[in-house]
Amino acid sequence: MFAKIIIDQDAKALDKIFEYSVPQNFAVEVGQRVLVPFGNRTLQGFVVELCEQSEYDPSKVKPIAQKIEDFPVIKKEMLQLMFEMADKLHLKLASILRLFLPSEMRTDSVHELLVKFCVLAENFEMPSTRAKKQLEIVQHLKQKERAKFTDLSKQFGYAALAALVKSGVVRVEQEQINRTPEFDRIESAARKLTPLQQRAVEEICEAKTYLLHGVTGSGKTEVYLNLIERQLSKGKTALMLVPEISLTPQVLASFKARFGDNVALIHSGLSAGERFDEWKRIFLGQARVVVGARSAIFSPIENLGIIIIDEEHEQSYVSESNPRYDTHDIALFRRNYNNCALVLGSATPSIESYAKAIDGQYQLVEMPVRVNGMEMPKIVTIDMLMELRQGNNQIFSIPLIYELRDIVEQKKQAMIFINRRGFSSFQRCRQCGYVAKCTDCDVSLVYHRFENKLKCHYCGKRFHALDVCPSCGSADIKQGAIGTERVVEELGKLFPDVRVLRMDNDTTSGKNGHRKILNEFRNAKPGILVGTQMIAKGHDFEDVLLVGIVDADQSLFQSDFRSIERTFQLITQVAGRAGRSAKQGRVILQTYSPRHYVYRFATNYDYKGFFNKEVNLRKVTNFPPYARIVRILFSHEDEKVVAAECKLCYNKVQAIREAYSKDFVYLDVMKAPLNKIKNKFRYQIMMRFKLEKADEIEKQIFEAVDPKAKSSVFFEINPNNLS
Ligand code: ADP
Ligand code: ZN
Ligand code: ZN
Repeated sequence: MFAKIIIDQDAKALDKIFEYSVPQNFAVEVGQRVLVPFGNRTLQGFVVELCEQSEYDPSKVKPIAQKIEDFPVIKKEMLQLMFEMADKLHLKLASILRLFLPSEMRTDSVHELLVKFCVLAENFEMPSTRAKKQLEIVQHLKQKERAKFTDLSKQFGYAALAALVKSGVVRVEQEQINRTPEFDRIESAARKLTPLQQRAVEEICEAKTYLLHGVTGSGKTEVYLNLIERQLSKGKTALMLVPEISLTPQVLASFKARFGDNVALIHSGLSAGERFDEWKRIFLGQARVVVGARSAIFSPIENLGIIIIDEEHEQSYVSESNPRYDTHDIALFRRNYNNCALVLGSATPSIESYAKAIDGQYQLVEMPVRVNGMEMPKIVTIDMLMELRQGNNQIFSIPLIYELRDIVEQKKQAMIFINRRGFSSFQRCRQCGYVAKCTDCDVSLVYHRFENKLKCHYCGKRFHALDVCPSCGSADIKQGAIGTERVVEELGKLFPDVRVLRMDNDTTSGKNGHRKILNEFRNAKPGILVGTQMIAKGHDFEDVLLVGIVDADQSLFQSDFRSIERTFQLITQVAGRAGRSAKQGRVILQTYSPRHYVYRFATNYDYKGFFNKEVNLRKVTNFPPYARIVRILFSHEDEKVVAAECKLCYNKVQAIREAYSKDFVYLDVMKAPLNKIKNKFRYQIMMRFKLEKADEIEKQIFEAVDPKAKSSVFFEINPNNLS
């Protein structure tokens, strides 16, 4: 018997399938981890196929050295997924397999937790009456029957316990204990569904892909819970993905409350032990509902009845590091393999997903009103240029201060949102609101401080940095953003007696950082929560009646083609935090570009209007979903090497463009915006081509890279982030 094996090394030269023989004295199965001789080393590998005949001279094929576990750790579905990902996403086999296992398992740095328990032996002689502590332990065990060794030792002393074990009075048993992640315990009574929820649950009944478009507060979570319940009752399992689990402890809590120990949790905030034990519970079929962040899409759950991607528009579903993948693609594969339902839920679906729903590829299910019939919060746009002209050069507009005062008097709550995404920033005229844009691409230019230049991150064109405004001649050019800290400080001056909490990357480090702040905020009345995107996600606080958006334009003038879409999503999501209970909420949206169409649609909650406008723009300018953007990023310590290799590849891609001249919209080679990271120089080839022959072109593009290139090469399709 021979085994085809993938070596667990992330190296280009080893990215193929090797053949080994299976020794007479043991059997292996497909999916099993083994140790194999390789050169003069022993390496870890995965069996991906078994065959009777060798393709090579059998005498030259080396035997497998050893099995690591005696069962397959990679299931059939995942092996198939691996081949598909390698083929479609051009990833290395070993790097894909690594996504399927807890990383500590590969390095053998995590093990089962064995705990020692003490019980009384069946027949024993009572210790002498002089050994008081020993008698106490016996007494204790008579009552409790069983106790942890460490607990007893702490309570009665190690010496006494050890003596009892030695004399055979106490027996020690080892037991494997699952380490379980923390969560908030809440009440869980299933609610009577509203008619809209009921309709959604009924509509989502087949093995199809559904786009659940439900406004914020429409009660999507309850729909998910019902859909999952239905699958469980049919003996099936469920996989539910949320963007960043630490940000939405509520969702997890309601899942735990409803499904108890059936739920396993997978996300990056777990300890190695917790992740290993949760993974194992899923692997063994002990957990039938998986709730997790992006990486949970790879969990070894079988017999799936439904996959749910909540907040499907979120960027965190795309892994931006190697191996790069989009969770949607993986979910579609697993949907097809399991022939189950896939539900993409959002109040603000991505343009790509909604286009597919319009096109009939996804079934559209809508929940257009809130659970309690409450009106959506009223969004008031404030023109910050007017405020400036009227002599207010503070962070907060007069109306926002006025509304905040009202909240404080009523002892209610407010959220203040500041967008600070990314390192890059644009330049803007403080007098007329002018923002520099690329002449060719209609995206905002990014200011590169080092070179003092404005650059387009799409076509690479450079422009002089602004010192006077080309539109009004003013020299009042601003660049950069105000931070959360500054906002908290200002609020402190305005409302010295009010609880002001801050939630951003700096305040939420550490395990449970988010949960602590959110729980603190829950009890702060009056209270104000200041934060970045983190506060826009899924939170459900009934006393939040006001949301302030300090500088809505921050996301509008980012340099990529999704920046307007993202702005619409952010405004809708953050506005959706207000007025979720008994009273209509209010939103104050501060902007320097009040006439931008994104604000018109967002303030009216007109998703469809926005979609139509945006999708038309994308069509005429040839951007996704009507075209594909591919970036090939090369990086290497030696700038000469990376520049040369990038250029070589570019020349080949140019030849491809000539063959497909009608399809190519754009092609160029340049330094990456972040030219050097961790001492590695970065060069990129950017291209955009029409969809018709996109797959065909893409395949050739990937083959254009020299497999022997010294640089590391990274492919991105429709990238979110062009740094
Ligand atoms: P979404 O995710 O769509 O923004 P949520 O799932 O957070 O909305 O639900 C909004 C609020 O409505 C939550 O407080 C939830 O507990 C409540 N809710 C959901 N469904 C019902 C129902 N059928 N009856 C009463 N309250 C509900
Ligand atoms: Zn450009
Ligand atoms: Zn100006």
